Amino acid sequence: MTIADLLAKADRPLVSFEFFPPKDQVGEEQLARTVDRLAPIRPDFVSVTYGANGSSRDRTLSASHRLVRQSGMRVMGHLTIASQSRTQIESVIDRYALDGVNHILAVRGDMPGGPTQPWQPHPDGLSTATELVELIARRGDFCIGIGAFPDAHPASHDPDLDAKIIKDKWQAGASFAITQLFFSVDAYRSLIERLRGLDCPIPVIAGIMPITIISQVERFAQLSGAVLPSALRQRLAAVADDPAAVRALGIATATAMAADLIDIGAPGLHFFTQNRSKATMEIWQRLEAQGLVQTAQGSLVDSSDSNHCQARSDAG
Ligand SMILES: Cc1cc2nc3c(=O)[nH]c(=O)nc-3n(C[C@H](O)[C@H](O)[C@H](O)COP(=O)(O)OP(=O)(O)OC[C@H]3O[C@@H](n4cnc5c(N)ncnc54)[C@H](O)[C@@H]3O)c2cc1C
Repeated sequence: MTIADLLAKADRPLVSFEFFPPKDQVGEEQLARTVDRLAPIRPDFVSVTYGANGSSRDRTLSASHRLVRQSGMRVMGHLTIASQSRTQIESVIDRYALDGVNHILAVRGDMPGGPTQPWQPHPDGLSTATELVELIARRGDFCIGIGAFPDAHPASHDPDLDAKIIKDKWQAGASFAITQLFFSVDAYRSLIERLRGLDCPIPVIAGIMPITIISQVERFAQLSGAVLPSALRQRLAAVADDPAAVRALGIATATAMAADLIDIGAPGLHFFTQNRSKATMEIWQRLEAQGLVQTAQGSLVDSSDSNHCQARSDAG
């Protein structure tokens, strides 16, 4: 079953974990431990981010392949178009297919310095993530995800344009979206209302960032363009000298936000784990105790259904 199949059929919010490709042996062991510890949650899928340069991109491919071989989990590889020719991008798509990675998250990638830096497409490459979705859909039998921005993409600050672009990608073959980190349930709700107003039924999985360290979340918010609300900023500042209190506040905030998102119908929670398990596990257990989430039953990956495209038309 593809992620699109699950989204169409599941009677519970999906759960997924995002990892980054480890840099060295120590990092690989850390990721392997994290995967083991989170495995009892039986994630519907896991994903591996795509690096900004050649060597980290190679590590994305090998980490994704390792997860397919060793974890038995449904694995989604991220893919960007930044600083790559069309030929290079095509070879990554083909490699994912060879490695049994049947899901791709198609995002543009950013210039060094983040999403607000002026974008320069590769002279022999693609210009937008919409073109990437089109290319992947033409090239193979993939289930395709895309990015979504509850706080609006920081280069355009235009929520209506964002919604239109998501609809373009859905029409080009994307089956679902996953949000950038965000801290306002109202912002997520507005994005969904805009999409539905455009007759775009694409499911939008909510990205959840467990806050455990203030400097880290500030850096991520700055890099991604997410808005850290001033009330949350103040509450964090009030306990800034007490790392345990920061962590407790971060976990409580993420749990409350995830509960509200489920309440308004978010079809899935995608945890940005930073290759760590504890905070994610704690949030999950709290949601489970409230009866808001449940562990998937049955086998993790049903490989009998290989018709990845069918799911999209079902969902649409
Ligand atoms: C869930 C998630 C996972 C991510 N994973 C990674 C990762 O693994 N590696 C990585 O490097 N980055 C990753 N990112 C970050 C992502 O690459 C950046 O946020 C990037 O800026 C997102 O671009 P996009 O995919 O929305 O691209 P696009 O849809 O191409 O949009 C980029 C900009 O171009 C504008 N634009 C696009 N099309 C049009 C049009 N037709 N008309 C006018 N303006 C247009 C948009 O308004 C926007 O400002 C991820 C983001 C998310 C949400």
